[in-house]
Amino acid sequence: GETPVKEAVPQSGDPGLVLLRRVGQVDPASLDDYRAAGGYTALRRAFELGPTGVIREVLESGLVGRGGAAFPTGRKWEATARQPDHPHYLVCNADESEPGTFKDRVVMEGDPYALIEAMTVAAYATGCTKGYLYIRGEYPRATARLQHAITTARSRGLLGDDILGKGLSFDIELRRGAGAYICGEETAIFNSIEGRRGEPRSKPPFPVEKGLFGKPTVVNNVETLVNVLPILERGAPAYAAAEPKLFCVSGAVERPGVYELTFGATLRELLDLAGTTGTTRAVLLGGAAGAFVTDLDIPLTFEGTRNAGATLGSGVVLVIDDSVDLKALLLRIAEFFRDESCGQCVPCRVGTVRQEEALHRLTRRVDPNEPRRDDDPDLVLLREVGQTMRDASICGLGQTAWNAVESAIDRLGVFK
Ligand code: NAD
Ligand code: SF4
Repeated sequence: GETPVKEAVPQSGDPGLVLLRRVGQVDPASLDDYRAAGGYTALRRAFELGPTGVIREVLESGLVGRGGAAFPTGRKWEATARQPDHPHYLVCNADESEPGTFKDRVVMEGDPYALIEAMTVAAYATGCTKGYLYIRGEYPRATARLQHAITTARSRGLLGDDILGKGLSFDIELRRGAGAYICGEETAIFNSIEGRRGEPRSKPPFPVEKGLFGKPTVVNNVETLVNVLPILERGAPAYAAAEPKLFCVSGAVERPGVYELTFGATLRELLDLAGTTGTTRAVLLGGAAGAFVTDLDIPLTFEGTRNAGATLGSGVVLVIDDSVDLKALLLRIAEFFRDESCGQCVPCRVGTVRQEEALHRLTRRVDPNEPRRDDDPDLVLLREVGQTMRDASICGLGQTAWNAVESAIDRLGVFK
C-alpha cells in the first residue's frame, strides 16, 4: 500500500542532508522550485568538465552502486564510454523490489527532477542518447511524478535535442514493471524492455559491453545516480569526506522510514535515531537476500557489514524484537523466493521449493524441549540445497535465497 511520503522521511528538512535535502521541502511538480533549490547546477558543471572529466570525478569520489552490489560506478561508466559500438543506452533501475527497501521511492516521489538531471549527467558522460527509467509497477505516485517531470523537462529544453544549448541529445522513456521481483535484475530488465519474458541473461557479457538491444548499456540504481549530483556540485574530495547513504529502517522501531547518514555510523547509532521497541533480538540487513546480525556495533559500510558476514545490500535495516516468530518469518522469506524464482535454472527453481518444504517440516515438528541435532536430515538438506543454489544459480535471486535462512539457523539458533 501507499503511505504518505512525509511519514517515510523522518529527517526531512535537516540542513545537513545531501540526498534528501529537497525531499519534503520543494514541490515535486515544480521545475522552478527544483532550480531555485540548486537543481541543474550539476549538469552545468558536467558541461564544464566534459565527459571524461565527469567520469574522473565519479571515479575519484569512490562512488559504488547503491542497488546492493556496490560495483564502482566510475568503472562502469568508463567501460561503457569507451565502447565503439553505438548507440549506448542508459537504464535507471527503479524496480525497487527487495523486501524492506523503499529509499528510491522516497527520492523519486519527493525529488523527481534530481533523477532526471542525474540521468542526463550519466548520459552525457557515457555517450548515451536514450535512457529508460524502469520503475516498479507498485509505485503509481512516483511514476506519475516522474512522468510529469520528464514531460516538463522536455518542454523546457532539458531533455531532447541540444540540451541547454550544449549539443547534447538525450531523452528518457518511462517503463513500468508488472510486479515481478526478478525484473529488477539488470538483464531481466533488458528482456522486459525488449518485450520478452523478464528472465535474467547469463553474465558475462556484462551490460557495459552488450546490454539492452545488444548494445553497450549503463545500468544504475536511483540512489546511485542522485549521488552524482553532489559529487559534481561539491567536487569528489568534499563529497568523499562525508559520503551519504540512505537506510530503510522498519520493523520493531518507533520511527520507521528512510534515514540518511554518512558512512561509518554504526547500526546502534541508526537504531538510536529510529528508537527500538521491545527487546531487539536481531537485525536483518540487506533484506530477504541479506542476513541476520546480532552485533549492533557493526559499522554501516559495505566493508563493515561484509566483515560481519552480512551485507549492506540496498540499505535494509529490519529490526526484529523478541515478539517476532522467527520460524514464520523464515517461512515467509522462503515462500517469497519460491514464488519469485523465474524458473529458468534448476538449482533455483527446485532449490527454492525444497528449501520451503524443509522449513515447513522443521517448523511443524521442532519440539522446544528437544535439543537441536546438527545432523538433523532437514538441516543437512537445507545446507546442501542452499549451497547448491549459491554456487550454481544463474542470477542473484538463487544465489542469495539461502542467506537469511542460513544466518537465522547459525546465529539466532532457530530450530534449536
Ligand atoms: P553483480 O555483482 O552481478 O553486478 C553488480 C553490477 O556490476 C552490475 O551492474 C554488473 O553488470 C556490474 N559488473 C559486475 N562485474 C562487472 C565487470 N567485470 N565489468 C563491468 N560491469 C560489471 O550483482 P547484481 O546481480 O547486479 O546485483 C545483486 C545485488 O542486487 C544484491 O546485492 C542485492 O542486494 C541487490 N538487490 C537489490 C534490490 C533492490 O530492490 N534494490 C532487489 C534485489 C536485489
Ligand atoms: Fe531465474 Fe532463479 Fe535462475 Fe535467477 S537463479 S535465472 S531467478 S531460476
